[in-house]
Amino acid sequence: MPANILDGAATAEKIRNQVAEEVARRVAEGKPAPGLATVLVGDNPASQVYVRSKHRACQQVGIQSFAYELPETASQKEVEDLVRSLNADPRVHGILVQLPLPSGLDEERVLGAISIEKDVDGFHPVNIGRLAQKGREPLFVPCTPAGCMVLLQSVLPDLNGVNAVVLGRSNIVGMPVALLLVRANATVTICHSRTRNLPEVCRNADVLVAAVGKPEMVRGDWVKPGAVVIDVGINRIEDPTRPRGYRLVGDVAFDEVSQVAGWITPVPGGVGPMTIAMLLQNTLRAARLARG
Ligand code: NDP
Repeated sequence: MPANILDGAATAEKIRNQVAEEVARRVAEGKPAPGLATVLVGDNPASQVYVRSKHRACQQVGIQSFAYELPETASQKEVEDLVRSLNADPRVHGILVQLPLPSGLDEERVLGAISIEKDVDGFHPVNIGRLAQKGREPLFVPCTPAGCMVLLQSVLPDLNGVNAVVLGRSNIVGMPVALLLVRANATVTICHSRTRNLPEVCRNADVLVAAVGKPEMVRGDWVKPGAVVIDVGINRIEDPTRPRGYRLVGDVAFDEVSQVAGWITPVPGGVGPMTIAMLLQNTLRAARLARG
């Protein structure tokens, strides 16, 4: 039986609507609209697209957004000074530094300069540290991993003792997803480029999260029948039949895996739309934390 589809686009829309309603309510009560500042350093075209779509999403739900751009040649001090001025700006409740930063800039120090109360991307070392520690609560959880958990728990709310396999250990997706799964009491295996017998490890997974950036790497015979498969990958592959000459695929071979899995997120329309929805939710939370 083909897998059920975990519809990220519909779930994200519901979340955006909830955020819009609460923003409107706050403004009607005389509170300031939540504010998100984005910091874009350099002219990476993909980053420009991501930042633009974040501003558009803010506009749609009534969140004020402020775009700051620095040239590729900006110094470490200039970037950190900008972040510090945003920390002090009362209109700004959330600060997002678009990654990756140009080479030569120390990402950890820039992220560490963000006030943790405004760290809506959840990448401040203190927030990540709290995520990794038992009994500690991060103020914000990174957006893509949080979006994966919302989709997963919409069909499998109880993760107690469930075998979860995460493909990928990056700072922005793989590792924080794995930490969130552990916090939800799943038994977690983290795989990476040195993992042996990957298909065999994956076949044990009740929950399989793929975040490797390799088009359609996960095949049908890697997946346990009935498993929940969360595909984070966004990869362009050539497709001359499409007007743009390419199409987007995930890290999972959808046609094969959807014949075996119980639930699967499509690409596009799965995890992707959830990332921005979680950013809006985090920005609203930052405004609540600032004003009670
Ligand atoms: P990274 O390149 O930072 O990390 C990839 C991870 O996959 C690494 O841990 C790497 O291992 C592992 N890996 C690479 N090749 C293999 C392999 N052959 N077998 C097993 N593991 C492997 O990628 P990101 O985490 O940033 O992104 C992953 C994917 O998610 C990309 O397609 C990206 O576009 C997408 N993405 C989607 C988002 C969304 O909003 N939906 C947001 C962010 C990312 P090692 O550590 O050993 O190098």
